[in-house]
Amino acid sequence: MKNIYFQTQAIKSVEDHFEGIQPISTPLYLSTTFLRNPDGSYQEDFIYTRHDNPNRRILEKSLAQLENGTVAFAFASGMAAIHAVFQSLKTGDHVLLPDDVYYNIYLLVESVFKDWGLEVSLVDCSDLEKVEKAIQSNTRLIWLETPSNPQLKITDIEGIVHLAKLHNIKIAVDNTWASPVLQRPLDLGADIVMHSTTKYFGGHSDVLGGALILKENETWATKIKNIQTLSGAVPSPFDSWLVARGIQTLHLRVNAQSQTALTLAQFLEQHPEITQVNYPGLNSHPQHAIAQKQMPNGFGGMLSVLVKGDATRAMQVASRLQYFRTATSLGGVESLVEHRKSVEGENSATPDNLLRLSIGLEHVEDLKRDWKMALEG
Ligand code: PLP
Repeated sequence: MKNIYFQTQAIKSVEDHFEGIQPISTPLYLSTTFLRNPDGSYQEDFIYTRHDNPNRRILEKSLAQLENGTVAFAFASGMAAIHAVFQSLKTGDHVLLPDDVYYNIYLLVESVFKDWGLEVSLVDCSDLEKVEKAIQSNTRLIWLETPSNPQLKITDIEGIVHLAKLHNIKIAVDNTWASPVLQRPLDLGADIVMHSTTKYFGGHSDVLGGALILKENETWATKIKNIQTLSGAVPSPFDSWLVARGIQTLHLRVNAQSQTALTLAQFLEQHPEITQVNYPGLNSHPQHAIAQKQMPNGFGGMLSVLVKGDATRAMQVASRLQYFRTATSLGGVESLVEHRKSVEGENSATPDNLLRLSIGLEHVEDLKRDWKMALEG
């Protein structure tokens, strides 16, 4: 183009698209907006990135497949995904939450949704009788988290689904800790699965993300899609790209983390300085049989231990570990340890002497040695 001003050239000269080349790794589509065709239509229905974006669509399609759902929605964080589920309910609806639900979910409901008229009860979801008793005529949703954070209680998903169907109640499962490598709640009858993709999907502690995957693409899915795109808590193209990249190695990481967690749990269970190990893969776990049924390929990379002594002793042990970094979060390639009670605050039901472990990809013998040294040193 001749007679073009510098300013215009600066814009046009970088608009090349290299049609016809086929990169093996998915490119990043950072554009917030997409060209409209002369007839008014849009290529592949991409209009504006809050509404949909190629990187997000790739991620959502993958998530739907991996969880055996029909449709998935990606969010900017796990909490944004959870928020969307509660927002899809109506004033006066009642929700059952597990009594040791991830504590920020409880805070969200207490500090935001109670003001909007959502009714909530906490119940021990590992006890079907208690769940049945807690159901009210306005109960619309039962939220499950299995294994639970941080006590690793197991909920019988099929048992709760059976109950819920009798009362026309929807079942949501936070599947963050197990990942679809080890547990697929939609196959067990749940209606919606939630993930903090920040954890195992991302896998490298460098991206925040969340997801909802639905069994059926019906009115509830439309409502959630509206909440996702209209409230705008969507992941950026780069966030979506990172989570999608993590998915390619998800099964390798989760299987290895799960194996190491079991070996370490068995080792710690024998140690005199540990009074209890919470890990669903141990025969001593009260719901081991249910875990075997619904997590046939392994029990996950998370466990918690009760250290002999008080909170100060537990924190001392955590600080002596060399290979476990003292930090919150989970699901990354590096092992982490955390004193949960001091994070969750005074009202938390977590024991004072509990340490939560997220197992990474280090060699199990190094991790065992690390714990032996921290407990005995
Ligand atoms: N659910 C569980 C079980 C979690 O562990 C977390 C975060 O730690 C969340 C939900 C919230 O996810 P995010 O931190 O991505 O918002």
